[in-house]
Amino acid sequence: MALRPVIFWFRQDLRLSDNPALAAAARSGSPLMPVYILDDRAAGDWAAGGAGRWWLHHSLVSLAKDLEARGLTLALFRGDSLEILSALCNGIDAEAVFFTRAYDPPGVALETAVAGMLKRIDVAARRFGGALLFEPEAIKTKAGGPFQVFTPFHKACLGETVAPPAQSDLPLLPFRGAPGGEMLADWGLTPSKPDWSGDLAETWEPGETGASRRLEAFLSGELAAYPEARDRPGEAGTSRLSPHLHFGEISPRTIWQRTEMKAQSEGGGVAQAAQAFLREVVWREFSAHLLFHFPDLPEKPFKARFRGFPWAPEEAALKAWQRGRTGYPLVDAGMRELWRTGWMHNRVRMITASFLVKHLLIPWQEGERWFWDTLVDADLANNAASWQWVAGCGADAAPYFRIFNPVLQGRKFDPLGGYVRKWVPEIAGLPDRVLHSPWEATEGELSAAGLTLGRDYPLPIVDHGFARARALEKLEEIK
Ligand SMILES: Cc1cc2nc3c(=O)[nH]c(=O)nc-3n(C[C@H](O)[C@H](O)[C@H](O)COP(=O)(O)OP(=O)(O)OC[C@H]3O[C@@H](n4cnc5c(N)ncnc54)[C@H](O)[C@@H]3O)c2cc1C
Repeated sequence: MALRPVIFWFRQDLRLSDNPALAAAARSGSPLMPVYILDDRAAGDWAAGGAGRWWLHHSLVSLAKDLEARGLTLALFRGDSLEILSALCNGIDAEAVFFTRAYDPPGVALETAVAGMLKRIDVAARRFGGALLFEPEAIKTKAGGPFQVFTPFHKACLGETVAPPAQSDLPLLPFRGAPGGEMLADWGLTPSKPDWSGDLAETWEPGETGASRRLEAFLSGELAAYPEARDRPGEAGTSRLSPHLHFGEISPRTIWQRTEMKAQSEGGGVAQAAQAFLREVVWREFSAHLLFHFPDLPEKPFKARFRGFPWAPEEAALKAWQRGRTGYPLVDAGMRELWRTGWMHNRVRMITASFLVKHLLIPWQEGERWFWDTLVDADLANNAASWQWVAGCGADAAPYFRIFNPVLQGRKFDPLGGYVRKWVPEIAGLPDRVLHSPWEATEGELSAAGLTLGRDYPLPIVDHGFARARALEKLEEIK
């Protein structure tokens, strides 16, 4: 007797390699119907933002192509996941739905509801890990609770063995006669008027092929200098794997295994660099662990005393920050890099975030929102945990009283000014000495650079010394 079909419900695991749920579906030997559902209602306040939607569109194109090459057609649907999955199960008489588990609150709520619905209609829910190195329940403190501090968490992870990637070349049997879905082009995930996505398309290659190309290029290129170069925004010193990881186009296990293989074959400095890189991958794991155990993380300060922080938000200051017109070149360069490419260097994320929260006294949630809409790697766990880290209110956060000086940070991490000159071209003609503090330029330097401050480029919207003292005063109020 022929086996009943199964549905493979793609979520944030848009890949065919090292996808344990897909490998299990393949092993079942049943004909397979691959499905993706765009369910903004279930994602609630955290439905993908503009840049994320652009990425999703291209990632789905890539996934559909890869499935096509394996003889399967990806069916696309929009709307209520429960209704759609239930109708599909009934329509094709499915035996099971296979999927990868999520760790963010909307994702967890959705899969719990789906599992309940499947139980009612007598269809098996087959849920698998795959988005993390370790399940968040598996890494525990000695007392059996969740970790709140990175270093012991990291140590605990290093004490575990990362499972090898799941088999990726199992035959996938297509289910013939599945109902056709919608057209991706009708979803309007990419911008039309105005189309701001030109630089994104030039910068990125969404999809599984792009992800593994990026990993391999990083391992044979940037990795060797990662520990030093990762802090210099003017250099391509990091992996840029974050959007690929967010959409599940590559698994952390594959990254782990390939990096360890590289470290073993090269040894020496490369092996050390590999450890530094994998430590960052564990930061991702830590963020997911925190969000899973503390689901309020995107909305509420982890440290309760910050709930009463006396913020003083001003709309004009927020706009200046968003548009990269604060008058602080490194902050502005970062905000413009973000707007144009959907990504920002980690060091500059820390500096721009600190500037918003501490110099402008705007709640970190406003910055988190803006990043959510503009980052191609916008990720609920990493974004929330990082904003709280910068704001000083998170688990294991940078202390609030550590306030980045954007001028000194610029001189230290962009000493030759390549990054600032790229993203803030109107001040490119200034000499290095004043590039990070244009207001200190002499009349002669300004006129040689063809620059009038306040007209071509803003004067600082707030004085650093004043802002620093004000932020510390506010901190005293909640001590
Ligand atoms: C305010 C703020 C907001 C952020 N928002 C996001 C976000 O929405 N999505 C996101 O993926 N990262 C976020 N980060 C973390 C970090 O900046 C990015 O992960 C990193 O810049 C991505 O570039 P990369 O892939 O080249 O990193 P690499 O240095 O090559 O690191 C490899 C991988 O490790 C993970 N990683 C690196 N740094 C961190 C970190 N500090 N926290 C958690 N995981 C990390 C990422 O998955 C990354 O792809 C944020 C950081 C700050 C300060």
